[in-house]
Amino acid sequence: MRLVAVFALVLVCLAGQAFAAPVGTVPSDVTVIYDIKGHFSKAALTEMRAEAGRIIGTSGVHLAWQNRSDSVGAVFNDLVVMTFKGSCAFDPAPPIYDETGPYATTRTANGEVQPFGEVDCDRVVNSVRLAMFGEQYARAEILIGRALGRVVAHELVHMLTRSGMHAHEGVQKAALSGRQLIAASLPLSAMDVDRLKQMRMHQ
Ligand SMILES: [Zn+2]
Repeated sequence: MRLVAVFALVLVCLAGQAFAAPVGTVPSDVTVIYDIKGHFSKAALTEMRAEAGRIIGTSGVHLAWQNRSDSVGAVFNDLVVMTFKGSCAFDPAPPIYDETGPYATTRTANGEVQPFGEVDCDRVVNSVRLAMFGEQYARAEILIGRALGRVVAHELVHMLTRSGMHAHEGVQKAALSGRQLIAASLPLSAMDVDRLKQMRMHQ
């Protein structure tokens, strides 16, 4: 098993076989099971879900969200699991932090992407903090949620397309800066929308 990384300034992920919806299910629905290990600001969580849903939704794929603690015993047709470690909230007086390293990782096995990802909230929050200025501090939790939503969307594209491919523009670029994570918009490229549509049609 190896990990595929989304780096703070160099996002890198690979991909492969993910998961197939059983016959008779609605192929455009994907459930994201989220497993929160540290603190997660409620405002950031709400915004993360909305932002990832907006980005992926342009391909016709609808995301449903389920807290892992509420999903025990439930059966889902098509799902991914995203684990969030560290603190997913704004800290106005953070400790000194090493900026290098991944925003998130997605698991692969035998060269194939698995539907399991892990987000390093401390790293994402640090990038957002460094990119913010002026009035943006007043809505830091929203911007952190937006950034997390974009990191999650990036991983979901790898998982759903079973590919490590990156785009030249948009959320699927191989490298994303903190500024790009909180910019007004960071959509899928047209190429990625097509790739997602193609993959979902053939499931
Ligand atoms: Zn990637």
